Amino acid sequence: MAQRSSIAAAAGTLSPVERNRESAIIERMRKRLLAFLLFLAPAVMAEGLPDLGEASQAELPLQMEKRIGESIMQDIRLHEPAYMDDAEINAYINRLGLRLVSQSTEARQDFEFFVLKDATLNAFAMPGGYIGVHTGLIQAAQSESELASVLAHEISHVTQHHLARQLSTQSQAQLPMLLSMAVAILAARSHSDLSAGAMMAGQAAGIQQQLNYSRDFEREADRLGLQLLERAGFDVRGMAAFFERLQKFGRLYENNAPGYLRTHPLTTERIADIENRIREMPYRQVPDSLDFMLVRAKLKAGEGTPGDAVTEFATQVRQHKYSSEIATRYGLAFARWRAKDYDGAQREVDLLRGLKASSAMIEGFAAQLCLSRNDTAAALNILKPAMLRYPQERSLAYAQVEALLAQGSLQQALSATADDLQLYPSDAHMYGLQARTYAGLGKRLLQHRAQAEVYVLQGQLLPAIEQLQLAQKAGDGDFYEHSAVDSRLRELKLRQAKEAKESKQKTP
Ligand SMILES: [Zn+2]
Repeated sequence: MAQRSSIAAAAGTLSPVERNRESAIIERMRKRLLAFLLFLAPAVMAEGLPDLGEASQAELPLQMEKRIGESIMQDIRLHEPAYMDDAEINAYINRLGLRLVSQSTEARQDFEFFVLKDATLNAFAMPGGYIGVHTGLIQAAQSESELASVLAHEISHVTQHHLARQLSTQSQAQLPMLLSMAVAILAARSHSDLSAGAMMAGQAAGIQQQLNYSRDFEREADRLGLQLLERAGFDVRGMAAFFERLQKFGRLYENNAPGYLRTHPLTTERIADIENRIREMPYRQVPDSLDFMLVRAKLKAGEGTPGDAVTEFATQVRQHKYSSEIATRYGLAFARWRAKDYDGAQREVDLLRGLKASSAMIEGFAAQLCLSRNDTAAALNILKPAMLRYPQERSLAYAQVEALLAQGSLQQALSATADDLQLYPSDAHMYGLQARTYAGLGKRLLQHRAQAEVYVLQGQLLPAIEQLQLAQKAGDGDFYEHSAVDSRLRELKLRQAKEAKESKQKTP
């Protein structure tokens, strides 16, 4: 009953527009997952229950998992309001995740980590190696090792194909309920009615059990996760500490436990298991990285009203209530920037310089601040050495193009985007910047051509085709540019026809 009233409460917080948008997402997820289940069910049913010890590779081709995951991910990027499209936070969570993945001997696929702006404690793995983390979980972690322990656990669910195996142990008659369950696993989100809707669609009583990964899967993810943590150089004690804290939290919620506990049931036995394993591992104190602290400060400083954020960080600075002065001053600078107090933010940046803090996030912020004050020359002066120092930082590359555009140096902006796209040919954001640059230069064919690539990379073929048709009619461009547009258009139309045919076959 507590469950039902909390569902009603959660649904009540959504406006009709939001609810429509969310139900559209549910609908798309449902369709894709159904395709996924129908694909995997017959093969697996014939074999009977898969053995936990056996590799289930044959049961579920990696490409299929990848495609399902990718299309759900594209939906999330485009339509999920909570998706954090923040290059710095993205870069951080992927660095942390990939540091763990690189220690796995079983990872046979690419991974992508992403952050959802949601105060609840949750993290989840989707088919195909896509792992989502709520901002609430990042804030609740008391050390970087604690955050890493949740990622390591999720990574292990993926490398062991637990989601697919969990689904494949069920009988075909249960498919509709399984579908609800899968949607709920992927979308156990507090403020959305995704999981609520899923639970009502299935039998509410039975679904809760089905939601959980099995105990064996949980134990396996803990065991392999601990190995990843240790090999990647984190403090393995972080896992026990964090899970224990989550369990305490769970008790406060009673039946309405945080999403993470619902999909990864934590038992005292499980925590005891982890502690037993840890006892045999050598003690190691691991300091948090500066970026971990800066990311948390940025998330915190981005919450609530700018005024509240300024007050909170200013109080911490004044009372010396912090574990890192650099991160706290950075948070204050960010909050002041949000409050449009650019002089105040600059004072904090100057102080940070005095503290000899070195991070791409601080350089990126300092440049952004200059841009906000319309001092593009100063922004570029900061960005140039910063990009040499942090060549892989996407946010710096974006900021440089923004600065060049703001300054009206369109040719320079164009060569910056072209050079960058050579190295990062699947960066939709950079193509978007290039389209803006072409627009500024009055090159209409090339503008639509670049915009088409943005849509291709977002998985939106129809708008991409439309852009190429606009490019054909743009009235500028030379012979070579036109034939490049024509051949790209032919290619995309073929791809579109193929996808339309496939989805007709799979979607009931
Ligand atoms: Zn789990």
